[in-house]
Amino acid sequence: RTVYVNGQYLPEGDAKVSIFDRAFLMADGVYEVTSVLDGKLIDFDGHLARLERSLSELDIQKPDCFDDLLEIHRELVRVNGITDGMVYLQVTRGAAEDRDFVFPDPEEVKPTVVLFTQSKPGLADSPASKKGIKVISIEDIRWGRRDIKTVQLLYPSMGKMMAKKAGADDAWMIEDGHVTEGTSNNAYIVKGDTIITRQLSNDILHGITRAAVLRFAREAQMKVEERHFTIDEAKDADEAFVTSASTFVMPVVQVDEAVLGDGTPGPVSKRLREIYLEESRKAAI
Ligand code: PMP
Repeated sequence: RTVYVNGQYLPEGDAKVSIFDRAFLMADGVYEVTSVLDGKLIDFDGHLARLERSLSELDIQKPDCFDDLLEIHRELVRVNGITDGMVYLQVTRGAAEDRDFVFPDPEEVKPTVVLFTQSKPGLADSPASKKGIKVISIEDIRWGRRDIKTVQLLYPSMGKMMAKKAGADDAWMIEDGHVTEGTSNNAYIVKGDTIITRQLSNDILHGITRAAVLRFAREAQMKVEERHFTIDEAKDADEAFVTSASTFVMPVVQVDEAVLGDGTPGPVSKRLREIYLEESRKAAI
């Protein structure tokens, strides 16, 4: 596989990043994941805009290659022959001379930029999307700036492990009795004909897929409420689903012990998945 590191395309085995890189020492970096369907990038502009915002919120310099990122994504998809899969992009504050909590002077460090691809044949019709997934609820103990897409993914990883041990697929995180989001996705419930998802704030990541799905739902005259909802409401919902760049719209059929509806993906979730895939394939670049 060919990867991109700081201006160079290299075989993955030749790619190097300093052990003093602040992402390695302090999780001082941000990332984006963009899906590829039929060799084309889904929602690329949204991911680039969020990257710019994450960098600016953390005072990390924009890398020199920022304006070339589309071209770099396309080149990696091309050389690695990706039909369906994803492009991972990470930008870190860079490698300071010594380990220090204080940010290094921007004149002295350059941000580190790494991109690589992962091939996932059949990404858009995974077995999970047909069966739906089971989620458990866990406490949300993450920090208060979940709107910034940092590489601090230890607790979300632990959440996925807790789900796995419980025989489930993922975890929804709960704060003050309300669902914030999934470990790596935004969470939704459906009551009657209304789609309910938590309002945007620093408590959750502002999902690029979320923005697109809510736009398509409104265009299709579906009712949308952006408000927080409790885990009890979720257990009592007619349907539930999650959204993310890598799973699109993924039906949820069980929340803790509560089976939703007849235990198969509901009509609203299925319809939204179809609309999202159709519209974003059309808009892919
Ligand atoms: N919330 C969290 C915590 C996530 O990690 C992700 C995916 N990275 C999302 C939501 C979904 O965001 P997007 O639709 O932009 O992939």
